[in-house]
Amino acid sequence: MTTTPDLLPVANDFATELPELALAWQAEEAPEPRVVLLNEPLATELGLDPAPLRSADGARLLTGNVVPVGATPVAQAYAGHQFGGYSPRLGDGRALLIGELTDPAGRLRDLHLKGSGRTPFSRGGDGRAVLGPMLREYVISEAMHALGVPTTRSLAVVATGRPVRRETDLPGAVLARVASSHLRVGTFQYVAASGDVELLRRLTAHAIARHHPEAADAPIPPLALLEAVATAQADLVARWMLVGFLHGVMNTDNMTISGETIDYGPCAFMEALDPAAVYSSIDTGGRYAYGNQPMAAEWNLARFAETLLPLISEDSGRAVELATQSLGTFRARYSASFTSGLLAKIGLTSAVGDAAAVDLSEQLRGLLQESRVDWTSGFRALTAAARGDAEILRGLVVDLPGLDAWLQRWHEMGPDADLMDRSNPVYVARNHLVEEALDAATAGDLGPVHRLLDAVQQPFDERPGLERYAEPAPQDFGRYVTYCGT
Ligand code: AMP
Ligand code: MG
Repeated sequence: MTTTPDLLPVANDFATELPELALAWQAEEAPEPRVVLLNEPLATELGLDPAPLRSADGARLLTGNVVPVGATPVAQAYAGHQFGGYSPRLGDGRALLIGELTDPAGRLRDLHLKGSGRTPFSRGGDGRAVLGPMLREYVISEAMHALGVPTTRSLAVVATGRPVRRETDLPGAVLARVASSHLRVGTFQYVAASGDVELLRRLTAHAIARHHPEAADAPIPPLALLEAVATAQADLVARWMLVGFLHGVMNTDNMTISGETIDYGPCAFMEALDPAAVYSSIDTGGRYAYGNQPMAAEWNLARFAETLLPLISEDSGRAVELATQSLGTFRARYSASFTSGLLAKIGLTSAVGDAAAVDLSEQLRGLLQESRVDWTSGFRALTAAARGDAEILRGLVVDLPGLDAWLQRWHEMGPDADLMDRSNPVYVARNHLVEEALDAATAGDLGPVHRLLDAVQQPFDERPGLERYAEPAPQDFGRYVTYCGT
């Protein structure tokens, strides 16, 4: 394994501070690494020079085949509840943390490679990732970022030049992912289960310093961490709900301490509002259905709280009491966050966010759901109504007397059309567009991926020529299913 000049200057804070959770490991050799997508604006934001990252050396760095000077790539240990069942040992089965970059703003950002080969956590898996799903994570995470939703970012997708065996042979790839960290609820579960309270203390201090530094000054820092994570997750899930995003696999190992969305597996954007919507092939019980996401987050936070109990109070009864109180903040925070977001979508700010406005926003949800109106374009139609053209929306809703009465009350409250433009995206990563782009890319044509990225990376700017990116799936697209075998 060779080293190369400082194209990727990384530190090893996680590996140094939490060696019990970091297994030094090497990526599998990629026969012919080739950069397929490089996120130049993100590279620049990280203080990296994009041009050399596109080169052959860059491709080797971004697949882990060359290790940056001073780096110690590690596979991270974590546990997790998957669909409610506890797995004591998950960990990075096909990923490596290369280390942490410090961006020009001084923030630490993990550089993580997904699809980099088997590790001691691979169990039966091959440690590999397929080009299509890695492009999918790239497109959807960048779309989420542009929508203002906290998320891990995608720096690059690099084809490995190796076929990966799934049902057929598919092209292999590595995704270079950037996150404010990869600490998960499952990381805390892994440590709590080990019974090593000193390690739990160190992990907690690391998480506080990295993500919620204000918690360090609280009377009981671990309790303040719990509250900060509950707040961040309440805001995050509210944003998912507002843009119609379904994560699909909200296991505790896929929930971050930072409050960023992580692990784009069987995720999807909902079209018609449907609380029972599920797209994941494995979620047969609908545990992670659209409307269940806030509850699923709260359930995960309860698992997080359990891990912190020994640090909250030596008196276990008291610890449970305090943790329960802190968890109780989640619901109110979620509601407040969702309601203010929904008010913005109908052009009303919290200044008029009185009970009548909230009531109005809820009534609109009812009208849209009843007529199976596409969530994204429905709100753009409402924006047109704010500017005097209600006909697009009237063409979508069945209950016209109900809608007209609603519109009248709404106009009386003076909706702000400019606020609506900023709150209602034109372009989201619609399932049929994502599938079309990935199919083309798998066949060697990246054009559709670039065009889709172009649309979703500026989701609020309506642009001529991009009309089809704003439209719901054609009727014949059928019921959409996504698979975990990514
Ligand atoms: P995920 O469903 O992607 O959140 O992954 C859950 C667990 O399965 C994690 O421990 C992953 O590292 C592991 N995993 C997923 N796919 C593979 C694979 N192809 N090879 C090895 N481990 C995998
Ligand atoms: Mg995961």
